[in-house]
Amino acid sequence: MSQLKPCPLFIGGEWTTASGVATTPVHNPSIGIVIAETPLCGPPIVDQAVQAAAAAFPKWMETPPVERARILFRLKVLLEDHFEELATSVTTEHGKTKAEARGDVRRGLENIEYACGAPSLLMGESLENVARGIDCDSIRQPLGVVAGVTPFNFPAMVPLWMWALAIACGNTFVLKPSEKVPLTTIRIAELAQQAGLPPGVLNVVHGGREAVDAILTHPLIKAISFVGSTPIAKYVHEKGTAHGKRVQAAGGAKNFVLVMPDADVGNTATGILEAAFGCAGERCMAGSTAVAIGQAAESVLPQLVDVVSKIRVGPADRDPEAQMGAVITREHQSRVCELITQAAGQGAKPLTDGRKTKVASAPGGFYVGPTVLDHVRPEMVTMREEVFGPVHNVVRMEDLDAAIELANTSPYGNGAAIFTRSGKAAREFRHRVQAGMVGINIGVPAPMAFFPFSGWHASFFGDLHLQGRESVAFYTQQKVTTTRWFSYGEGTIWADR
Ligand code: NAD
Repeated sequence: MSQLKPCPLFIGGEWTTASGVATTPVHNPSIGIVIAETPLCGPPIVDQAVQAAAAAFPKWMETPPVERARILFRLKVLLEDHFEELATSVTTEHGKTKAEARGDVRRGLENIEYACGAPSLLMGESLENVARGIDCDSIRQPLGVVAGVTPFNFPAMVPLWMWALAIACGNTFVLKPSEKVPLTTIRIAELAQQAGLPPGVLNVVHGGREAVDAILTHPLIKAISFVGSTPIAKYVHEKGTAHGKRVQAAGGAKNFVLVMPDADVGNTATGILEAAFGCAGERCMAGSTAVAIGQAAESVLPQLVDVVSKIRVGPADRDPEAQMGAVITREHQSRVCELITQAAGQGAKPLTDGRKTKVASAPGGFYVGPTVLDHVRPEMVTMREEVFGPVHNVVRMEDLDAAIELANTSPYGNGAAIFTRSGKAAREFRHRVQAGMVGINIGVPAPMAFFPFSGWHASFFGDLHLQGRESVAFYTQQKVTTTRWFSYGEGTIWADR
């Protein structure tokens, strides 16, 4: 009997198997074995899901926001009850540590908690007497069928950035999770069904480019939320908007961490460690480059190298002590190692070298150890490309101005952080840095569910970001009503004004 986990579709409240389509393997990266096969669906299956979502929309739209929220409350409770199981699912298909997987699920849950506030979030505005005897108010109505396409690196959180709030706003949803990590989404959709979500409100299809193209061009889809790499985000935005859809598309990143000479050494080393190597660097908010200003390299680097060299790399699915897990695929492992080799060839100096990391207990796993590259220059490959692995550049700069200038040469604009004791330097940095999410003595300044995930430049395409009130605006359209009433035939009850 097959040991593979099933990877069903969820369409119109029914769980079905996609037959007659090609598949792609899902790995457990910790040990390198195949655990499932993701069906690569095309237009016919996407259309089935969209039709189911369209059929469910009229009734769901009429469901009072407070009733929609009650289902989400029940889902929250179920997710809490199954918290450890979901974290295990994330670790198994992604490879990140259990602690990181718990963070992934927790951040997803927080988006459900936020969406439970739908009745308040959807409230409109009103103004009496916009002109004499005339009142004006605005209400928010859902768009219809909305779709979401997600990346591999946060199997629980990123899908929940999207569909929880979208359905709370009264839309119905078609979700296409990353073909590399479809299993956590399937489990959460099962729990959503158990929570009482009516058939067709949430639908899950699987696949890659073909499924995404079917979503981008489907005439019944009104809006698309996308998170993934920059080239695909740009493509999704261009093609989706060309087909008349509202699109929010978050892309890749290269995030700078500036270290002032006055920074607290221990806290800065820990902050960089977490920013650079958390989730094995597979994070759009990873601090992939430290800019050591003045003498900062001399004070912080020895401590950083000390803590980095003690990181225990291992199979997160079976070693509870593992502090860093595998990367997502063998191809990605090879690419990351190749980029380290190229950077070293260009003159970067590896202070720790993850290419040499071997995990004896899991020889088939996709491991790259934490790598710190010193004396990196802007033209080197690990500065130009999003490595999306445990590789941290250290660039040395004379002063804060030069460091900010360097950070601002990046085509991306997701996160940026500074470690310093100086309020003046922190203020200057926050004011001038070209990035949408800023950390001050925080290495990973990822906003919580009630703030927008506000990437700039090539880290985001669209107008309204994911999360928070911007996302409420994204998933709704406003209707503004201007009202005047006459006192027909009632005599003069009120004196005319
Ligand atoms: P990816 O771009 O390869 O894939 C993302 C999604 O796009 C997947 O669902 C995939 O099936 C689909 N896709 C892939 N190729 C496609 C194509 N040619 N046409 C249409 N659809 C396609 O990204 P990934 O490797 O899964 O995730 C990592 C990337 O996501 C990194 O660049 C990371 O920075 C980014 N990311 C960004 C944020 C953010 O908020 N800005 C958050 C998480 C991840």
